[in-house]
Amino acid sequence: MEPLTNWAGNITFGARRVLHPRSVDEVREMVAAASKLRVLGSGHSFNRLADTDGDLLSLAGLPRIVEIGPDRTTVRVDGGIRYGELATRLHAEGLALHNMASLPHISVAGAVATATHGSGVRHGNLATAVAGLEIVRADGELITLARGDADFPGAVAALGALGPVVALTLDVQPSFELRQYVYENLPVAAVRSQLEQILAGGYSVSLFTTWAGTDIDQVFLKRVEPMTGDDYFGATLADGPRHPVPGMPAESCTEQGGVPGPWHERLPHFRMEFTPSSGEELQSEWHLPRSVAGAAIEAVAELRERVAAVLQVCEIRTIAADDLWLSPNHQRDSLALHFTWIADTDAVLPVVADLEKVLGPLGARPHLGKVFTTAALAEYPRFADFTALAGRFDPAGKFRNELLERLLG
Ligand SMILES: Cc1cc2nc3c(=O)[nH]c(=O)nc-3n(C[C@H](O)[C@H](O)[C@H](O)COP(=O)(O)OP(=O)(O)OC[C@H]3O[C@@H](n4cnc5c(N)ncnc54)[C@H](O)[C@@H]3O)c2cc1C
Repeated sequence: MEPLTNWAGNITFGARRVLHPRSVDEVREMVAAASKLRVLGSGHSFNRLADTDGDLLSLAGLPRIVEIGPDRTTVRVDGGIRYGELATRLHAEGLALHNMASLPHISVAGAVATATHGSGVRHGNLATAVAGLEIVRADGELITLARGDADFPGAVAALGALGPVVALTLDVQPSFELRQYVYENLPVAAVRSQLEQILAGGYSVSLFTTWAGTDIDQVFLKRVEPMTGDDYFGATLADGPRHPVPGMPAESCTEQGGVPGPWHERLPHFRMEFTPSSGEELQSEWHLPRSVAGAAIEAVAELRERVAAVLQVCEIRTIAADDLWLSPNHQRDSLALHFTWIADTDAVLPVVADLEKVLGPLGARPHLGKVFTTAALAEYPRFADFTALAGRFDPAGKFRNELLERLLG
């Protein structure tokens, strides 16, 4: 058997075997019989979160479920579906999700487990769309939780620590159209004086920079209303399609140029049928309170040369506050500083540690599906409630692995 790796290829999983259940009953039997088990989603995380030396469970072969609720405000999906497939099916029914990540390739359950997000000052991360969960506990029991249940906010972005999520119910809304524009060379002076307005200028706004110069290289602006004029806070409209990573062909990117199109073909930067991002990379990301956004950007700018030496591109996004216990956006409107690194762990890790040193005092919380060296989860307000919940679902630590031991203690 070929060694199994994550999407980025920087992690080789240590699992004894990979199990492919075809039904929820099979998941329950496999979980009950296992002594150690982790679930693998689509493998897009950059660390050992999904790893195990026991059984790795893939839910990709579960029967596909896309069940729209009677009032058309929710959809129930299986624990193996990816956003790309779900989004296409929802749009065909005249429905939409509130937001998407930069790529549609990731599994819904895996993205929700790590509080994956898109951008938008008013939009919570993707886990905030979850209205219900069906989880197989360590003893094989199927537990159903709904928004409003006491344990629910702990169980949504739970890193797989409570057991396989075999189905989720998500909030949906009527389908809508967006227009995507790319602007170039946003002056640093505008970033310093008008950051809040720049980030709030559309449904979803992303700023991209390589930190090679002082200006922001690109603004990806996704809006309901058309833009008038070629200027965005001093940045100029690009004269053709652009990829966020300098030098990469834009054919893998969703349509730009202000052409209206369905939400799921504009919110992700990358198209489902192409390799997303650069394809040869590592990623890190830190979430900060939006109140320190300017200071956080300045702190990275101070390390510009160190960062630029191992960077492909940096993306700045916003996420609205939520109440999910392990979410990096728990109780705070956030600014996220994302780094697409070169694919060289040894070169990247010291820079990650340097960034943690300057962003930590500002309240940085890492994206737990990406590369980090430290994460002070014990400082999250509901951490103790989460470990108690995990202890009830998994008293013997069947779903624990080395990284979770480090994070949860
Ligand atoms: C090119 C690229 C672009 C990215 N862009 C973004 C972005 O825009 N925004 C962002 O926030 N992140 C982004 N990410 C990170 C990615 O969204 C997260 O790492 C996400 O968790 C990946 O989902 P997955 O299904 O691949 O999960 P995996 O990596 O397979 O697993 C992640 C965790 O979820 C658990 N898990 C998976 N499925 C289940 C299940 N059914 N039940 C219980 N636990 C489960 C696993 O055990 C593991 O702990 C990007 C990653 C890549 C490679």
